[in-house]
Amino acid sequence: RGGQAEREVPFAQPGSLTRVYAVASGKGGVGKSSITANLAASLADQGLKVGVVDADIYGFSIPRMLGVTRQPTQVDEMILPPVAHEVKVISIGMFVPGNQPVVWRGPMLHRALQQFLADVFWGDLDVLLLDLPPGTGDIAISVAQLIPTSELLVVTTPQMAAAEVAERAGSIAAQTHQRIVGVIENMSWLELPDGTRQELFGAGGGKTVSESLTRTIGAEVPLLGQVPIDVTLREGADTGTPVVLGHPDSPAAVAIRGIAKGL
Ligand code: ADP
Repeated sequence: RGGQAEREVPFAQPGSLTRVYAVASGKGGVGKSSITANLAASLADQGLKVGVVDADIYGFSIPRMLGVTRQPTQVDEMILPPVAHEVKVISIGMFVPGNQPVVWRGPMLHRALQQFLADVFWGDLDVLLLDLPPGTGDIAISVAQLIPTSELLVVTTPQMAAAEVAERAGSIAAQTHQRIVGVIENMSWLELPDGTRQELFGAGGGKTVSESLTRTIGAEVPLLGQVPIDVTLREGADTGTPVVLGHPDSPAAVAIRGIAKGL
């Protein structure tokens, strides 16, 4: 809509009842997208109206994880998002040709995010989840500018190297004045057949991030939960049925549903 005035972001309007969570991590591969997809499916399963914006330019994986097969459609000047497992989904991956590598500059990303928020017909959502790219990039600042009331969820693994970068991703909230809802530790352990827990990535990352962010922000940043390594989670992500729906009694599903209930 070149030349026309930008539409307002509905979630930023006074009186908006939609809770907006930006899911952040320090580095890639910690399971941020898996957690986002499963939180979304879990919240929708609770009966809430849920949307997801996949803004992870480097690894847009939400459509696959949620089993989205359709493309967005356009009606008048609005974009209708495809729906999967009762979740409305828009991904940056739906707007890039083929498997072309994408070079996004800060202003382009800001504009794309603005359009995802304002030009997509979301309807009345209870919850909007934003899957951010890993790190402390421009897009985290854009989210804060576009939706000042958005809140951060920080995902880390137990590993100290991951925790340190997660802290940095979270501490951006000190500058943007966003609330940090809490920290989610993923890949916390693998449960062995004899019931013992093997801590493949060490232990303590989630607790460390929660404590250090509590100090940095000056407000309690709780550890919301620990999600174990679970083969059914990975399989569900690959086949488009989130583990919280496909294997609701698996350890990862139980952990993620518990976190979703507390949000
Ligand atoms: P990120 O979004 O942080 O880059 P992903 O969500 O894409 O990470 O996860 C990276 C890989 O690890 C994916 O293949 C995903 O299926 C797998 N994975 C994530 N969390 C778990 C878990 N708790 N158990 C098993 N596999 C997981």
